[in-house]
Amino acid sequence: MSNKTITLKPSPQGLLRYAHPWVYRNQIHHVAETAKPGDLVALVSHSGRLMARGYWNPKSEIAVRILTWADEAVSEEWWESRIQAALDYRKKMGVHGWDAYRVVASEADGLPGLIVDKYGSVYVVQILTLGMEKMRNEIKRALMRTAGAERIYERSVASSRSMEGLEDRVQWLSGEPLSRLSIREGDLELEMDLEAGHKTGWYLDQRENRMIVSQMAIPGGDALDVFCYQGGFGLHLAKAGMKVLAVDSQQDVLLRAQRQRDLNGLSEAQLQFQKANAFDLLKHLDKDNRRFDLIVLDPPSFVKQKSALAGAVSGYREILQRSFKMVKPGGMLAVFSCAYYLDDSHLMQASMAAAKDAKKRLMLVRFLKQSADHPIQPFIPETYYLKGFLFQVS
Ligand code: SAH
Repeated sequence: MSNKTITLKPSPQGLLRYAHPWVYRNQIHHVAETAKPGDLVALVSHSGRLMARGYWNPKSEIAVRILTWADEAVSEEWWESRIQAALDYRKKMGVHGWDAYRVVASEADGLPGLIVDKYGSVYVVQILTLGMEKMRNEIKRALMRTAGAERIYERSVASSRSMEGLEDRVQWLSGEPLSRLSIREGDLELEMDLEAGHKTGWYLDQRENRMIVSQMAIPGGDALDVFCYQGGFGLHLAKAGMKVLAVDSQQDVLLRAQRQRDLNGLSEAQLQFQKANAFDLLKHLDKDNRRFDLIVLDPPSFVKQKSALAGAVSGYREILQRSFKMVKPGGMLAVFSCAYYLDDSHLMQASMAAAKDAKKRLMLVRFLKQSADHPIQPFIPETYYLKGFLFQVS
């Protein structure tokens, strides 16, 4: 067990938030000389009482990330029990039957800095912190022993790694390398390119919402999928019989989106992709008096910092107002925010203001959130980031 201790300041500065794993640099009073960056450390109160164990990185604003509040070693067995708990939760939620899902969701699964996504037979590991980086072998062995993982691919590519003093890293940790594979999502077959794409390849957190929204499809009706990435919502809606226009600003994601369309036997008349800035395109569609039975707005996180909130809210208002105008009477609109800082009430206020400007009334059909494989711990508010509303517009 690690005897490298980090002593917190006397309260209240050194007070830990209940069940929250982050300890900021300014909460720390003293670090034992033996502690090296990335080491496992024992966190003790000013009076010397053991509070928790975690790992330390002096480079990061969040200097310690807590792994356990118990007086236990972070051993091989500990690793296995954490991964097992994550697997058990997903089993209980019915997620383990999905072809692709998040197996470990960082803080939400008590493993800050670690993401593991499963695509078919491949476990894709994303390490975000120095502390986790040092435990790469433990992670690999625990995945093999607990989940029975054979193919493990590391895709540690994230802008946040630089804040930890880390470079990106991509490598096979175990098993026969493989660059493409296919997974099923509802009625769709999707080709995953493990080496490309956002996140670990696919927006797994929107899976349940894609299914819910596609249940609202009106065969023969018109749909608009804005910020479509590789066609997520649009593919489902087209498969359900709608004529879809799907828009994204990135050419490379649209090329893969077209491939997904072809794989699923859909024609360009059923699902048309367009490269455009969503803000400009919505303006044009509105000017052309286009009307849709269903619109999806799933923008990227416009708010990485709290200071960007006001700008993001007015951005939402703009795209919502144009979109509400274009929804046929009785039609549907789904809007999402994946930014932690842009919360339910900001999104609702922006929706209401936009609907008022567009002279529309709203019925909240569904209150949506991230899929069940991205658990939410209320005591760690950052674990709840993706929220959305499905409205009927009249
Ligand atoms: N709905 C998708 C995920 C969307 S992610 C799914 O279910 O899989 C957000 C997407 O918005 C990204 O693909 C990004 O390329 C795109 N994007 C970002 N800014 C944009 C803009 N100004 N106009 C259009 N697309 C944009």
